[in-house]
Amino acid sequence: MKDPQIGAVQRELSVVVPVFNEEAGLDALLARTIPVCEAEFGANFEIVLVDDGSTDRSWAIIAGHADASPNIVGVKLSRNYGHQLALTAGLKLARGDYVFVLDADLQDPPELLPQMLAKAREGYDVVYGQRIARAGETVFKRATANLFYRLLSAVVDVSIPRDTGDFRLMTHRVVAHFNAMPERFRFVRGMVGWLGFKQIAVEYERDPRFAGETHYPVRKMLRFAIDAITSFSTIPLRFASLLGMGFGVAGLLALVWVGVSWLSGGVVLGWTSLAALILILGSMQLMMLGIFGEYLGRMYMEAKQRPLYLVDEVYKQPDMAAGASAETEGLQRALSS
Ligand code: UDP
Ligand code: MG
Repeated sequence: MKDPQIGAVQRELSVVVPVFNEEAGLDALLARTIPVCEAEFGANFEIVLVDDGSTDRSWAIIAGHADASPNIVGVKLSRNYGHQLALTAGLKLARGDYVFVLDADLQDPPELLPQMLAKAREGYDVVYGQRIARAGETVFKRATANLFYRLLSAVVDVSIPRDTGDFRLMTHRVVAHFNAMPERFRFVRGMVGWLGFKQIAVEYERDPRFAGETHYPVRKMLRFAIDAITSFSTIPLRFASLLGMGFGVAGLLALVWVGVSWLSGGVVLGWTSLAALILILGSMQLMMLGIFGEYLGRMYMEAKQRPLYLVDEVYKQPDMAAGASAETEGLQRALSS
């Protein structure tokens, strides 16, 4: 059935899965995830599958599962908004005491749930998966990912642990705080790092994709990296002053050099060095304009205050014990904790 008022009942666990064209892997995903959840929580869990505007049969499959099982919730976004926004939509709708984020392609093993839960029960608010191996990923992907995490930790003050994705278990209160962050350019793992609280890593081996192929081609990876850096740091904006000072000093030295050679009777030949200088300075200035533009464009997009995403439909079975009290209780818990 259709029900936009999702989440009236509090569950012990919500599993949130963004899905984009994953028709080949969805059944396997559920076949592996459901037993793990049942072993921990019996029937008291939900799996929120967020269809991010898939063009294949993903939504039909999700709706079928949601019809058949009270534990499956299908959410269909109005179009493709990208991985991070699909995840955001799922987190907003999740009503579990614990929230477990998974990729639909089974690259993150759901079987890690008990181990992560154990940590959460010890008192950690965020238990994130840290990759120790990335089977089935190209050398190029691994090298660029490595470079990216190094660059990120160099420019960003927030601690964003290396080699972590969005595979993590979070407590209800962390998710509530995350949901209160309104920004549009979302780099979820960085935002969770920014939140703080007690966080800990659980190491795991990242499996190859179960089916289909990655939705992160180089172009999207680059966008993702620029989003990450611009949302967490304004250091690139300071390049302008540093470069300006650098070139100022270099100019003074050049002047001294020209003066000395003139006094000692020599003449410094001009054309090549002048051309080189003009090109270097011009390119530096354009580059800085580009960096300013990145920030300005983001401010413009944020200033419009459009909704981050639109939900088309929510498929779930009617809640037996649904009621306004459960809803407000959930809200109060979010506020008080
Ligand atoms: N995804 C999504 N919207 C997109 C692209 C990806 O919801 O526009 C989902 C995808 O179905 C998967 C997760 O985000 O569950 C991670 O995507 P993918 O596996 O392609 O990324 P990779 O693991 O290669 O970094
Ligand atoms: Mg993947």
